[in-house]
Amino acid sequence: MKKFLQEFKAFALRGNVMDMAIGMLIGAGFSGIVTALTENFINPLLQVILGSATYTLTDVSTFAGNFLTAVVNFLITALVLFCLLKAVNKMLSLSHKKEEPAPAAPTTKKCPYCMSEIDIAATRCPHCTSLLETPAE
Ligand SMILES: [Zn+2]
Repeated sequence: MKKFLQEFKAFALRGNVMDMAIGMLIGAGFSGIVTALTENFINPLLQVILGSATYTLTDVSTFAGNFLTAVVNFLITALVLFCLLKAVNKMLSLSHKKEEPAPAAPTTKKCPYCMSEIDIAATRCPHCTSLLETPAE
């Protein structure tokens, strides 16, 4: 079960899955804007042009308000998603760091005579005082 969860986490946190999910959510939010634009601007405009309806200034301000609400909703959604994406990316880079530590350059070696850990540049062992071969370069 633990392994399953780990695999699922690796899958869900993979960048492209997140991008896809966020793309879908942004798309859904954007379709809300398009719907609001159609209902509150294009349809009334067509009706006025075709002469099937007349609108007062109050109606126009209601339409403008509705459309503005849709835009604000979309912006809030996008903002939240952006923050979420940033948080996930941060989490992702942290877990990457944890899983793949950069291989540190060795700073010590083992003395071939006494097997003590000594500085890599040492030419004489500080433990057994053996003269060491200088590292070939
Ligand atoms: Zn030694």
